[in-house]
Formats: sequence, C-alpha cells, structure tokens
Amino acid sequence: MEALFEKAFTKALRKHSGIKKQVENKVRMIMEQPLALGEPLKGPFRGFYSCPVKKNFIIIYLYCHARRKKGDDEIVACSDCAERHDETLKFVLLGPHDEAYGN
Ligand SMILES: [Zn+2]
Repeated sequence: MEALFEKAFTKALRKHSGIKKQVENKVRMIMEQPLALGEPLKGPFRGFYSCPVKKNFIIIYLYCHARRKKGDDEIVACSDCAERHDETLKFVLLGPHDEAYGN
C-alpha cells in the first residue's frame, strides 16, 4: 500500500500537532485495512472515506482501488490517478468533524 498526503492534510496535521502520534497510528491502521476502518461518505463526498482519530475528529481519505471499482472515479477528483496503482491511499483532510466537512 502506498500512502500519499495532500497538502491540506499535512497542513491540518501541523495545526493539530498535539495529536500527531494518534493520527500517525491511525494512518498506519488505515493502510492495513482501508475498507474495514473507513466509513464511505455520501453526497458531495461520495467516494471518500472517513475514519475517526478520536471523538469528533476525523481523517478523510480515498482509496484508488475502491474508487475505480465502484465507478466513483467520475465523481471523485484524484488528480493523478492514472499514474497511481490500485493500492494507493490518498489522505485528503484531517480535523474536527465540522471543519473537515467545511461547514
Ligand atoms: Zn486515485
């Protein structure tokens, strides 16, 4: 499994550096079981998965394999997907629930 970290994710991790360790642990766990740990999102976030780090604090990611298999690739922007193999995880965003969803 290859993990890629989007700018927004890295930036959020700096902002919430107090729980960096927890986030890193969770990222490792997600890399082992991306589908078992993630909750598939709906609506405008279809194709993405969320996984809680702690109460009301989530990681949002996408899994190239699932995105292709489910046909979500027409909806979910994965800019360089063509250059990535199936076993790629992209960590998109991180933050308190409301902040991550942008409302
Ligand atoms: Zn992709």
